[in-house]
Amino acid sequence: MKKLRKETLCVQAGYEPKNGEPRIVPIIQGSTFKYDSSEEMGKLFDMEKSGYFYSRIQNPTCDNVAAKICALEGGSAAILTSSGQTATFFSIFNICGCGDHVIVSSMIYGGTYNLFHMTMGRMGVEFTFLDPDCSEEELDAAFKPNTKAVFGESVSNPALVVLDIEKFAKAAHKHGVPLIVDNSFPTPLNCRPFEWGADIVVHSTSKYMDGHDSTIGGCVIDSGNFNWDEHADKYPSLTTPDPSYHGVIYTKHFGREGAYISKMTAQIMRDLGAVQSPMNAYILNLGLESLAVRIERHCSNAMKVASFMKDHDKISWVNYPGLEDNKYSNLVKKYMPDGTCGVISFGVKGGRKGAEEFMKHLNVSMICTHAADAHSIILHPASSTHRQLNDEELVASGVTPDLIRICVGIENVNDIIEDIDQALSYI
Ligand SMILES: *Cc1c(COP(=O)(O)O)cnc(C)c1O
Repeated sequence: MKKLRKETLCVQAGYEPKNGEPRIVPIIQGSTFKYDSSEEMGKLFDMEKSGYFYSRIQNPTCDNVAAKICALEGGSAAILTSSGQTATFFSIFNICGCGDHVIVSSMIYGGTYNLFHMTMGRMGVEFTFLDPDCSEEELDAAFKPNTKAVFGESVSNPALVVLDIEKFAKAAHKHGVPLIVDNSFPTPLNCRPFEWGADIVVHSTSKYMDGHDSTIGGCVIDSGNFNWDEHADKYPSLTTPDPSYHGVIYTKHFGREGAYISKMTAQIMRDLGAVQSPMNAYILNLGLESLAVRIERHCSNAMKVASFMKDHDKISWVNYPGLEDNKYSNLVKKYMPDGTCGVISFGVKGGRKGAEEFMKHLNVSMICTHAADAHSIILHPASSTHRQLNDEELVASGVTPDLIRICVGIENVNDIIEDIDQALSYI
């Protein structure tokens, strides 16, 4: 089939209705699937045949939607998960265990930091957090004999740091390990990490992909490029027999393109069961159908809001990766020339008090902790999510007392700007 463009993939990829079937991905809200004979079902358990038997392992609706995201990223296989947190956890846990080590960009989502540092730390996985702007030498020096993966965010939440994907991929490959990239903020519409050497991509589909503040979900996508067999000693769970499936060897049975996701499905999902429900996958798919149109509007609205803020005398600083004078503007031009995302952070005059006053008077942008959906939403961490910290502690955690994060929605941009303007007059 002709290679289709990303806007077309958003609408059509992952599901091809047969004669007389529904045009949209149908919701198969079933737990189990019927077979004519035990032998036939047995073949599924032996992995001799592929098919569905229980929705904790695989479900057709979820598979169709995962296949769409896989096509958008340009990957070889993908799986939906119950949340972005699960996607991140599975992406690491699939190839790491007690005694292993992972290198992580220090500019990541707070939930990911807690997952790695606290929860996976208790499981015996060790993480080294590294400034993503480090030199190649510093990055190189962070590897240990037991390093199994490198992890970073293409555009970090909330700091909006842009990852030099190629620099991280080169270092990872030099040491024979894969690079995993969380691509939730730019989405594959604006950034395709596989084209720059990333091996695995994860998403919180709760953000722009769903885009309507209506479902929590995640996705893990494999590029199919990492050669596990070449580093077989590091990844025995993929390259040696799995006793829970009559000794199947994932890289032999499913090849380089299928091993990583097949093992995640057959073993990690089977045992932990953090599936996305078919109903949620259906809602996610509705979001994906309009993703190309929405992300374009998010970016153009955010650019106008950021430019307005730059010139406003009540605003002391603006951080938006799309701005020409942004620290990461060269990386943006290279990795996401069509735009970044709709998220901006900025500081208002008058510090914490000024920010609190400003927040009180907004009408269009609403106060929420979430990020990245159709509605404009805004957060002042110092008076909400981070309110237990004093000013010094805030600065140390990278969140200044005046910092406000706005996720610019797809409303009319003039309404968003006029609302901000009138609220600023109260400072
Ligand atoms: C929100 C978020 C997550 C976590 O996703 P959930 O769907 O909330 O579990 C992970 N990474 C990034 C970059 C996020 O913004």
